[in-house]
Amino acid sequence: MRDIILIAPPAAGKGTQAKLLSSKYQIPHISTGDLLRAASGELGDIVKHTMESGALVSDDLVLKLLEERITKEDCQNGYILDGFPRNVSQAESYMKLLEKLNKPLGDVIYLDASKEVTQKRIVGRLSCPTCGAVYNDQIDESKPKKFGTCDKCNGPLSKRSDDNLETFEKRYQTFMNETYPLVNYFKSKGKLFTIGSGISKERTLSEIEKIINRG
Ligand code: AMP
Repeated sequence: MRDIILIAPPAAGKGTQAKLLSSKYQIPHISTGDLLRAASGELGDIVKHTMESGALVSDDLVLKLLEERITKEDCQNGYILDGFPRNVSQAESYMKLLEKLNKPLGDVIYLDASKEVTQKRIVGRLSCPTCGAVYNDQIDESKPKKFGTCDKCNGPLSKRSDDNLETFEKRYQTFMNETYPLVNYFKSKGKLFTIGSGISKERTLSEIEKIINRG
């Protein structure tokens, strides 16, 4: 298995799909948002400020973190990229990086979801900082059994500081202006597959598996 790139508007389900694929195929889930959230000290303060504004963090910083991560031993047999590349310039740098590492580009999957759906998912999204499980208190089938508590590890759930209506608008605009052009970029390389993600997470997963396991 090679790299799998998931492209989607904020909260369209790429983190959820990446986690499911990662556990099923035993390859790392690399979320640049998570790598950035883990930055500490002065750098961490700058990153946090940028993320809360809904804008993108600088390409140089993200690329540095990404290269460090994908050259680790556990990425030898493939990995899932969630949140990277975020613009055409990052995609071009990624192509150069693959060339340097002598690796081919894998599959790029676009999860297409409407603004209305993603807005609802973002406003209610809760996650468990301990085990990474994700819930939604606005969607019945995704609510935790006990309010504010993780079903899987019993840890307290928390809300991301950029999951609010105001930041959502900015993040959605950032997606349309900067990330959506990647759809044509990868289409022109014959690498793009689109899945409508108004369907359940199980069906989305099975659609993704059909793509990555095709003959
Ligand atoms: P995410 O967790 O993917 O929703 O990302 C949350 C925020 O992290 C984004 O709104 C950006 O500010 C930042 N971020 C994540 N990935 C990238 C990236 N590849 N390039 C630039 N900024 C990023």
